[in-house]
Amino acid sequence: MRQNVLRPGLLVDINDLPLNRVEDLPEGGLRIGALARMSDVAQAAGVVQRFPVISQALLLGASAQLRNMASMGGNLCQRVRCSYFRDATSPCNKRDPGSGCAALDGFNRGHAILGTSDKCIATHPSDVAVALVAMDAVVHTRGPADDRAIPIEEFFLLPGDTPEREHPLEHGELIVAIEVPATPTARLSIYLKFRDRESYEFALVSVAAAVRIQDGAIADVRLALGGVGTKPWRARRAEASLVGKLAGEASFAEAAGQELAAAKPRPLNAFKVELAQRAIIRALMTLTNGDTR
Ligand SMILES: Cc1cc2nc3c(=O)[nH]c(=O)nc-3n(C[C@H](O)[C@H](O)[C@H](O)COP(=O)(O)OP(=O)(O)OC[C@H]3O[C@@H](n4cnc5c(N)ncnc54)[C@H](O)[C@@H]3O)c2cc1C
Ligand code: SF4
Repeated sequence: MRQNVLRPGLLVDINDLPLNRVEDLPEGGLRIGALARMSDVAQAAGVVQRFPVISQALLLGASAQLRNMASMGGNLCQRVRCSYFRDATSPCNKRDPGSGCAALDGFNRGHAILGTSDKCIATHPSDVAVALVAMDAVVHTRGPADDRAIPIEEFFLLPGDTPEREHPLEHGELIVAIEVPATPTARLSIYLKFRDRESYEFALVSVAAAVRIQDGAIADVRLALGGVGTKPWRARRAEASLVGKLAGEASFAEAAGQELAAAKPRPLNAFKVELAQRAIIRALMTLTNGDTR
């Protein structure tokens, strides 16, 4: 708003709504209120113990001051960091549909390589969304007409021909909570984030990973990528390649290669293809060596 990118006619302060609780569900899942602060969620015992990937993703985002103020609903709905989107004088299909995309042939080092279209290549900026996508979270909303439960992968839309539309939320519809189903796989989980500096910086590449090994083979695996997709990217090709394989660098590298085969890099962000593959391998190696630091 300060940069004249958005000019809302009306602002509604929702901070007094009773939506800030982090609850443990009876089956072992979580219900996170949309107004729960990022720092409160990161520190909640049920999150730290049962879903370390969510806690780690939150703590690696933004700064301590921002995390103390920012809400979970706001984090999921934050706008892209593309500098052309935030410069109201540049062509940008997301800000001004039909005006063009200055990033396609501009400075696109931080932009996406997966899920792009010829209308928009902006990366989704959220860290915790990547962890929530890996955990099959569900976004609960309340609108003027009804309540909805939207699987989180469907909550983030690919840009396609309509990059201005990022979520399926209708006018007047609020996120009220995010539910994370119980999964034993989540206990052995990790969030790795690679960026230009160690704090207060968005991801060039990030990985949310969880794995369950049985008799040396991979019984269950969850993988999602940040910093490379136009939406938080569930790495389903890699997951499919890994299930039933022996845990080890060879199978991890094969899976990472299969996921990134679909990448459409541009000259300035082509480095992300290899960085993402290495990040996937690093995350899985760390988990399967029993070292989650
Ligand atoms: C300098 C800087 C660095 C950052 N770095 C990171 C980072 O590394 N990783 C990361 O993940 N994030 C990062 N962020 C984002 C930050 O963590 C917050 O998530 C973000 O600023 C949103 O803040 P907020 O909760 O106050 O939302 P707001 O700014 O209040 O809202 C954001 C949008 O969401 C909408 N909204 C808010 N709540 C709801 C709801 N319940 N239902 C429907 N719509 C809603 C608002 O209308 C608005 O459009 C960074 C932010 C800044 C400013
Ligand atoms: S990448 Fe998307 S957000 Fe950035 S200028 Fe192009 S259309 Fe706008």
